[in-house]
Amino acid sequence: MKELILVKYGEIALKGLNKNTFEDIMVKNIKRRLKKLGRFNFSRAQSTLYIEPADETADINGAVEKIKKVFGVAALCRACTCEKNFEDICAKSIEYLEDVLPYAKTFKVTAKRADKAFPMKSPEICMELGGVLLEKFPNLQVDVKNPEITVTVEIRDTNAFVHAENIKGAGGLPVGSSGSAMLLLSGGIDSPVAGYMMAKRGIHISAIHYVSPPYTSERARLKVETLCEKITDYCGNISFFCVPFTELQEAIKEHCPEEFFTIIMRRLMMEIAQRISEREGCLALITGESVGQVASQTMAAIACTDAVCRIPVFRPLIGMDKTEIIEISRKIDTFETSTLPYEDCCTVFTPRHPKVRPQLADVEKAQNSFDFEPLICKAVENTELKVFRCDG
Ligand code: ATP
Ligand code: MG
Repeated sequence: MKELILVKYGEIALKGLNKNTFEDIMVKNIKRRLKKLGRFNFSRAQSTLYIEPADETADINGAVEKIKKVFGVAALCRACTCEKNFEDICAKSIEYLEDVLPYAKTFKVTAKRADKAFPMKSPEICMELGGVLLEKFPNLQVDVKNPEITVTVEIRDTNAFVHAENIKGAGGLPVGSSGSAMLLLSGGIDSPVAGYMMAKRGIHISAIHYVSPPYTSERARLKVETLCEKITDYCGNISFFCVPFTELQEAIKEHCPEEFFTIIMRRLMMEIAQRISEREGCLALITGESVGQVASQTMAAIACTDAVCRIPVFRPLIGMDKTEIIEISRKIDTFETSTLPYEDCCTVFTPRHPKVRPQLADVEKAQNSFDFEPLICKAVENTELKVFRCDG
C-alpha cells in the first residue's frame, strides 16, 4: 500500500496570477525542511501538493511534523493511493483505516470528485463505501453531523486517495514571499513570538541580538541562540547578528541622565539594527513590544524610539496581553527556554525611576550630550554573524 502526504494551500490559492510564485516558494521551503528525512517525490495538481516517499529511507512521520510548521500550508493529510476504480477504493479503505475504524463509534464518508469522468458521482461513492465499511466494521454507526471519523475519498486526475484525518497547517504565507526584515531578538518571551508572527505573513527573518559582557553572560547569549534555532522550524534559515553593546551602555551610563538610560539604549539599538538592515536588504524592523508592558513601551516612549527609525517598525504584539503572548510561545515551543533565568542588556544599568512619558526634545538633548557615532560604528563593525538552519 502506498502512503503519501497531501498538502493543501491556504491564502496562496487566492493569489490569482501570482499563485505560482507563492507556490514555488512554499515548495522550496518544504523541500529544504525535508532534506535530511530521506528521498521524496513532489508533484502538484489542483491546488494540492503531493509528497510521496521515493523509497524506504523516507521518514513520513518526521515529514508530517516538519510540514505542519511551514507557512502557506492550510492543511495536510496522510493518504493512501488507490487505483481509480471503486473496488480498489473499498479494499484500500478497509486496509488503510484498520487502525482507526474498529475503535470508533461513528463515522461518515465524504467524496470529492475532481475528475468528473469517474463513473460514480460523489453521493453514490459516499453511500456505497459507507455501506461497505458498515458491513466490515459492525461497531460503526453513521453520523453525518458530528462523526468521530470522516473518511474522505478524493478522485483526482491520476489516482484516487483515501484519508481519515485532516491536520491543521500553520496557515499564513510562505516565508520569503514578502521580503526580509530584522527581528530584535532578546531572551524574553515576546520577541520570538513577534518573529513567528511576522514570518507567518511571509517575511523572511534575520535576527539581531545585543550583548553586554561581562554584565551579560555567555549563557544568556546561548539561550538566545537556542531560541533562534527553535524558531527556524517556522521561520526558515535565520542569519543571527550578535552586537557587542557594552561600550555603548557604559557611555550612556557615564554621559546621560539616569532617567533616560533605557530610552537612549533603545534608540541606539534601533540605529544599529537599521544599519545592518540596510546592508542585508531588510526592509523593516520587528520588536516584541506591547503598549504599556514596561516603561519603555508607553506610547510616549515608543514615539521617542521611532523618531530614530528610517524604516518601518513592525510590532505584531502591540495590542496583545501577556497571557495571549504566552499561549503562542507555548505553541511554538519557545516558552520553556524564554523563562530560563538570564540577564539581558536591558536589565543592565536599569534606571530606578525611568521616565514613563519622555519628551522627544529632552531625550534628544540628553543623547546629544555625547557623540555616540564612533561607538555605533565600532559595534556594527564587530558584529558577529552565525546562521541557524531549518534543515537540522
Ligand atoms: P522580550 O520578552 O522580547 O524580551 P520584554 O517585554 O522583555 O520583551 P524589553 O526588554 O523592553 O521587553 O524589550 C522590548 C523589545 O526590544 C524586545 O521584544 C526585543 O524586540 C527588543 N530587545 C530587548 N532586548 C534586546 C536584546 N538584548 N537584543 C535584541 N533585542 C532586544
Ligand atoms: Mg526583554
